Amino acid sequence: MNILVAGGAGYIGSHLVKELQNVADKLVVLDDLSTGHRDSIGNIELVIGSSGNKALVTNILRTNNIDAVFYFAAHSLVGESMSNPGKYLRNNISFAIEFLESMVECGVRYMVFSSSAAVYGEPAFYPITEEHPTVPTNVYGATKLIFEEMLDWYDRIYGLKYVSLRYFNAAGADQSGQIGEDHKPETHLIPLVVKACMGLSEKIIIYGNDYPTKDGTCVRDYIHVSDLARAHILALKYIIASDQSKIYNLGNGTGYSVNDVIASTIKITGKKPKIEVAPRRPGDPAVLVASSKKIANELGWNPEYIKLEDIIYSAWNWHKNNPSGFQQ
Ligand code: UDP
Repeated sequence: MNILVAGGAGYIGSHLVKELQNVADKLVVLDDLSTGHRDSIGNIELVIGSSGNKALVTNILRTNNIDAVFYFAAHSLVGESMSNPGKYLRNNISFAIEFLESMVECGVRYMVFSSSAAVYGEPAFYPITEEHPTVPTNVYGATKLIFEEMLDWYDRIYGLKYVSLRYFNAAGADQSGQIGEDHKPETHLIPLVVKACMGLSEKIIIYGNDYPTKDGTCVRDYIHVSDLARAHILALKYIIASDQSKIYNLGNGTGYSVNDVIASTIKITGKKPKIEVAPRRPGDPAVLVASSKKIANELGWNPEYIKLEDIIYSAWNWHKNNPSGFQQ
């Protein structure tokens, strides 16, 4: 099986690339390195370029006889998507259309798509199943939903089969400690808390402690990045075996508050940084917890990292080994 990972030098993509090395006959990564890192994929062949460059993508698909694509190439900051919607619509939608057209032109029929819980918007019930209404509250979530709708049409019209994976809060790092999360600037809770506990930043800011939750802080469903990576491989095997398209949630099914994350990180690192409470971040729902029963029942996927401490420990291990992230 010859595989292209678009956006494979990013946080989740690079963890998948590591797992794919035992699965793929040929493995190629396409990444514009706008947020990804060359060093995150070792010696794997990297083409630096845009997923919206149709001539380039068509050439990669043809020359490598690509059978299947994993698609991660997207901008993913919720806040930025509301201040610069055009950037998100262009990159996450327009480029994706060019990419899908290349796939059709080259007869590549399988895609595993990196979607998001952001497609659901404000939760109407918990845990969130795949049947939950999809009413995104930000442009980022809207772009993921539009991509899913495009995939549905490409399936109906061209027979392109896909699995769309709606992640909840991806966190943690590969157990080797050699690859992990390195966003600049970092906005995600776990790396920010770990770095504060390591003395790499001044303080932790809690965005809102007046939510209707057990301790007033937001509750999220943290899922280990290596568990996500394994789900992608199961998804591809499923598409090939069944020739069907599906949508699945990926989460642990357990919610942890911001305070839980801070307490657990302090316990692991033995360091207590300064903590400040700030106003709520616009657009943050109080609770986001997934039901992943569908993928468990249909594909046999179950997370290996169930405990929050284990997820945080793996993140800490990465940051300890690489306090400045990837060098290049
Ligand atoms: N959060 C926080 N302080 C931070 C970063 C995040 O209190 O410095 C909160 C945020 O409001 C949300 C949760 O932590 O409730 C998870 O945020 P993150 O950005 O990691 O993921 P999101 O749920 O937005 O995808």
